[in-house]
Amino acid sequence: MSRKKIIAGNWKMNGTYEEAFKLTSEIVSMVKDEVKGYAEIILAPPFPFLTSVNKLTENSVIQVSAQNCASENSGAFTGEVSCAMIASCGATHVIIGHSERRTLFKEEDDVLLKKVKAALANNLKVIFCIGETKEQREKGIHFSVVEEQLKNTILRLSADDFRKCVIAYEPVWAIGTGLTASPAQAQEIHHHIRGLIASVFSDTIAQQCSILYGGSCNENNAAELFALQDVDGGLIGGASLKSRSFVTIIKAMKD
Ligand code: PEP
Repeated sequence: MSRKKIIAGNWKMNGTYEEAFKLTSEIVSMVKDEVKGYAEIILAPPFPFLTSVNKLTENSVIQVSAQNCASENSGAFTGEVSCAMIASCGATHVIIGHSERRTLFKEEDDVLLKKVKAALANNLKVIFCIGETKEQREKGIHFSVVEEQLKNTILRLSADDFRKCVIAYEPVWAIGTGLTASPAQAQEIHHHIRGLIASVFSDTIAQQCSILYGGSCNENNAAELFALQDVDGGLIGGASLKSRSFVTIIKAMKD
């Protein structure tokens, strides 16, 4: 069964407005209509640049995502950005549960589930991140770690809501470290995640769910990772900040 292939670039807290403008313009002109049909391309700039990146990508195949959102809809939450605000900037997606949010900002499963529900209530699709630490992998508990992360969050949604979520498996030990999961490690855990989805919802829903790999994915390893049966694309950090690298990764999806 075919499912959506997705390449998303997570810019994290990098760049100025001018740099965001330049990077987006370069990606738009390099991507053109070329990728129509084979992959969804998503850019996740910092909040202040959402509207501009959306305007620049309006007539392209590229969609825009926020990197985080508030769990509440409005009110006295100084510094927070609601899903309604994100949607009103033209974004279609939001990344929730990135390991940097979990670790540095102490976001736990209950708040992540609230954020997911807020996003869905505002018609945003969710890119939900999961993944084990180095220590957890060394202990051999990586399967149960990702199971718990999913069981406490998006596996509690209705089937209809779950269908609006994309999963990004991102081993924490591979994020920004230059270490990448081997193709065997990636395939094994993606397959496991799909099996878990089938056991909670159905085989059809599991087969339709896009599961992205993230963690030092770059021009050199993307093709091998994307060729795996249960890997449906990538969430790209560092390599999404250079237009040429990012577009090479996008093209690796096709080859
Ligand atoms: C990420 O932050 O989601 C990520 C995968 O980062 P990097 O590609 O830099 O490892």
